Amino acid sequence: MTDAPGTYALLLQNEERQEIEVGALGAMTVRPGVYVYVGSAFGPGGLRARVGRHARGDGALHWHVDYLRAATALEAVWYTHDPERRECTWAAVLRSLSGASVPVDGFGASDCTCPAHLVRFEAAPSVSTFRTRLRGECPDHEMISRFEP
Ligand SMILES: [Zn+2]
Repeated sequence: MTDAPGTYALLLQNEERQEIEVGALGAMTVRPGVYVYVGSAFGPGGLRARVGRHARGDGALHWHVDYLRAATALEAVWYTHDPERRECTWAAVLRSLSGASVPVDGFGASDCTCPAHLVRFEAAPSVSTFRTRLRGECPDHEMISRFEP
């Protein structure tokens, strides 16, 4: 991962049911399972700065995902340095996977018309299934990598 721009997904594992506050969205029930959040980093420092911040889990609670990140464990990150903004497509593909549900309307989707950029699963979806589905939507999509922080 470099400081070039790109799109990423955080796979956040939650063990125990909990109630958290998510900024202006208000109360959220976080159930056991895996929450996948999709974002993009097209500002200074690119993907490396943004994902590094999420991995550390420090800093101010600014985006919706910061509140969820503070309450869960970051299990894996999927990312691409594709120069297109792919986050809405990524979120749509995730929502279409088997077992997907949208836990909170509008989460992470303040700047677009998606139902949400957060999708919940009982167990983590596989990156290979995700890649296959994404390539079906976007045949020219650049490489998608996975790492465990
Ligand atoms: Zn969107």
